[in-house]
Amino acid sequence: MDYKSNQKPNIDKRRDINNDFNASLVTAKIIIFYLFIGFTWILTSDYFVNLFFDDIEVINQIQSIKGASYVVITALIFYIIIHKSIKMYEVTINDLKKAYMGLDLSHQKTLELDDKLFKLAYYDLLTDLPNKVLLEKTVSKYIEDHPDDGMIGFIYFDIDEFSHINEVKGHSIGDLLLKKIAELLSSKINAPHMLARMGGDEFVLALFGLNQLETYIPQVESYINLIRTTFVLDDDDFFVTYSVGVALYPDNGKDYITLLRHADAAQSVAKAKGKDQIVIFDDEMVTMIKQQTELLNYLRHAITNNEFSLHYQPIINLKNDQTIGVEALIRWQHPVKGFIPPLEFISISEKNGYIKEISEWVFKEVAHQYEAWNIEGKAFRISINISPIMLMYDRFIPYMNEWIQTYHLDSSQITLEITESAIIEDIQKSVHVLKQLKKLGFIIALDDFGTGYSSLTYLQKLPIDIIKIDRTFISNIKPNTEEFHVLRYMIELAHHLNLIVVAEGIETVEQANMVKKYDVDLAQGYFFCRPMPQQRIIEYLKETDSN
Ligand code: C2E
Ligand code: CA
Ligand code: CA
Repeated sequence: MDYKSNQKPNIDKRRDINNDFNASLVTAKIIIFYLFIGFTWILTSDYFVNLFFDDIEVINQIQSIKGASYVVITALIFYIIIHKSIKMYEVTINDLKKAYMGLDLSHQKTLELDDKLFKLAYYDLLTDLPNKVLLEKTVSKYIEDHPDDGMIGFIYFDIDEFSHINEVKGHSIGDLLLKKIAELLSSKINAPHMLARMGGDEFVLALFGLNQLETYIPQVESYINLIRTTFVLDDDDFFVTYSVGVALYPDNGKDYITLLRHADAAQSVAKAKGKDQIVIFDDEMVTMIKQQTELLNYLRHAITNNEFSLHYQPIINLKNDQTIGVEALIRWQHPVKGFIPPLEFISISEKNGYIKEISEWVFKEVAHQYEAWNIEGKAFRISINISPIMLMYDRFIPYMNEWIQTYHLDSSQITLEITESAIIEDIQKSVHVLKQLKKLGFIIALDDFGTGYSSLTYLQKLPIDIIKIDRTFISNIKPNTEEFHVLRYMIELAHHLNLIVVAEGIETVEQANMVKKYDVDLAQGYFFCRPMPQQRIIEYLKETDSN
């Protein structure tokens, strides 16, 4: 910006010159003045010479001296005039030079800015890798220019348990890992191949112009093995693995979008198979995608066709074997497909935006049935599963506030169950939303505790009231194993933090006795009761009450 302030006074000076200085007029004035002085001098000096001298030789000498002195004086006058105008030109030229330099500098700035805008549009700021916009442009252009020139390997991968690293070490260390991976891999990748960051912990490696089907898989493996290694982060060693999906041009897709979709599908399979592996796309996955699309189409009509219902599973107080509440679980009965379990459609509806409608349906349904639970004269707790997508939804808090107002619900009787993985995704935002939910009076339960992350360190930071220990954790436990000691420690710690502990998925009497012995407060599971429609649960309650 500096060059601009330097430029300003010069422009003003030039404006002064333009205003005050009329070149022709001044020149004419000087010439007239010169002619006047010249003629006056010649006439008067000749007159006086003739008046005082008679000798013609003396007169000639005086005329010579007169002529010479005239030349000297006019030369002096010319010197002054020419010097002045050249000086003026000099100022103008210097002004022009400065203005030009300013312009040049601002041109350079424009170029720099252009460069920055280009980088912003096409490169990832954290890793300096091309972003997905540039990847799409490059792949599409390559296909357009070389439609028959070999294959393109489209390798889509992400870091296994990246959110765990973020959560344990903090986001800046997570970022550092992303940078290190990007540096390590990109140093081995030469044009025309391209490594791009798609966002989060997701990358795409595009290998252009591959010729042999047999050699490209080992090639992909060698690239992934390069980064499948131990990274030292903040003095701790992290062995990092990847879930990788591969699609091949032209066999698995003839354009960028299809390649991306198919590599993504293959990557989901790699994850579902237990991560840390490379999965090549095949046509069966097309069937899977087709099925998902079909399911989505069915989902679109499920609410209007009244295909959803809620089942409830009792939650038992282990101190006195009494049912203290129920968990609402959604059920989908499709007229053709039959029963479709929630695990099959919840995640699809989360990815495709239907979860909002479904969740709102659940909230309305619970509200309509809420009265019935209190008819029996007991204060009953109802637990509702909350999708992480809802938690991130801006209008969620106002919606929940309206919900309790509209249906006159007692929020202290309603538990909202949120999974551990959902909270870890964005811990700050989650804590903020959970605090607001607590302000509205809701009880908060951390669902599926112990699956994967098992992080006890952040437990005390979360505004929660209950932890629900996951069924897989309970079912794997044998006395005196390591898991067993972890479970005991978990329970102790939770109690120390004044949290209520619920054991999920109790199926056997042994499991029931074990959790009772270790002071678990509440339990759920087929051993006590399966999830059932509301009317059947009310009957079950009456029966158990009369026993
Ligand atoms: P979840 O919240 O962990 O729910 C417990 C699941 O364990 C339920 O499966 C329940 O039927 C099952 N279960 C209970 N006791 C036992 C047992 O003793 N043994 C075995 N093997 N399973 C038992 P379900 O109903 O299939 O639900 C699966 C998941 O779908 C739920 O896991 C929850 O995450 C999600 N879900 C269910 N309903 C809703 C809903 O209304 N909204 C949202 N967002 N998610 C829901
Ligand atoms: Ca639950
Ligand atoms: Ca659970």
